[in-house]
Amino acid sequence: MNGKIYLDNAATTDMDPDVLEAMLPYFKAQYGNPSSIHGLAKYARDAREHARASVAELINAEPKEIYFTSGGTESDNWALKSVAFGNRPRGSHIIVSKIEHHAVMNTCEFLEKNGFEVTYLDVDEFGTVDPEDVRKAIRPETTLISVMYANNEIGTIEPISEIGKIAREHGILFHTDAVQAFGHVSIDVKRENIDMLSASAHKMYGPKGVGVLYVREGVKLEPLMHGGAQERGVRAGTENVPGIVGMGKAAEIAKRDMDERMAKESELRDHMIGRILGEVPFTKLNGHSTQRLSGNVNIAFSFIEGESVLMLLNHKGVFVSTGSACASGSLDPSHVLLAIGLEHEAAHGSIRFTLSYKTTRAEVDEAVDAVKEAVERLRAMSPLYADHLKRMNKTEV
Ligand code: PLP
Repeated sequence: MNGKIYLDNAATTDMDPDVLEAMLPYFKAQYGNPSSIHGLAKYARDAREHARASVAELINAEPKEIYFTSGGTESDNWALKSVAFGNRPRGSHIIVSKIEHHAVMNTCEFLEKNGFEVTYLDVDEFGTVDPEDVRKAIRPETTLISVMYANNEIGTIEPISEIGKIAREHGILFHTDAVQAFGHVSIDVKRENIDMLSASAHKMYGPKGVGVLYVREGVKLEPLMHGGAQERGVRAGTENVPGIVGMGKAAEIAKRDMDERMAKESELRDHMIGRILGEVPFTKLNGHSTQRLSGNVNIAFSFIEGESVLMLLNHKGVFVSTGSACASGSLDPSHVLLAIGLEHEAAHGSIRFTLSYKTTRAEVDEAVDAVKEAVERLRAMSPLYADHLKRMNKTEV
């Protein structure tokens, strides 16, 4: 294997050196527990509050509206369960999209088992939720709308402002899972009428195991875990101070460099999409062509299995994900790709490449060359491809 080409940045990112640098003192000299009352604790408390302000600034929130968590999964669980159980006397209906991350989907399944009703909104062929469908799904007993900011598989960016406006007009709380968008897309919780937002540090060059839930002031929050009085009494447990500091630093860097990073990534993204669609026959872009995360390329390759392409690429040191990857290891195709109308076969033949601002053009070109070779090799062995060629009156396989 030569050097690696990492194109799986939606799974996790390489931490920025400045982030690590900022975190290190809080593992060593500044190891105090923020809840203690002596001098050492003050350093940890100050660092935590500095990080809270940096995170708030990135999305135009107030520092007191930011709660630190263990990551996107906890934030999603907390938002949905808090609103659902906390508002039960008012109603027990929730609206989400069909393409949410499992952190939302499986929380909804849990809520359904506990007597809540969930409407799963369709998306169009590009993975976009129609805000009018949100409006139509609202009932008197609806207490929460949760639609992700950007999809983790196909990169589609949702019409968040429009959905936020509809939710606000109806007095319904609006949560967005912004794990893939936070630090990558300009977000303004006030302008977009977002009441709650989930984010995670490891998707934006910060450390794993830390995230935030933004909760607009005035929205009542029920604790998910019970214990100490941390995070204003609603999120018990000694804070992950180094992680929190890292997330704050990553947010500061994202604010400073976002435009430059997005411009670089989207140019490489479009170059990669153009090369694959232009040079590999029987391919299709999954997701939206413009309303798309700057680092996301998701392609359906007909007649072959995405997992087989992944293995061949892995062998060459090119690291990607399949569109049909499933955390449970089941062979079910991705619910996102099915929701945008792909047949099972096309869903199984999809690959997600996710770039970062560190990705180079040379890496993209090398990856595309490796993809072409892998696809050709697999199609040469594919009975589906042979049948197709026969049908097209071709003789050579
Ligand atoms: N939501 C989305 C859209 C994600 O992409 C992910 C992670 O892949 C999560 C939630 C979960 O975040 P975490 O890994 O921080 O728990």
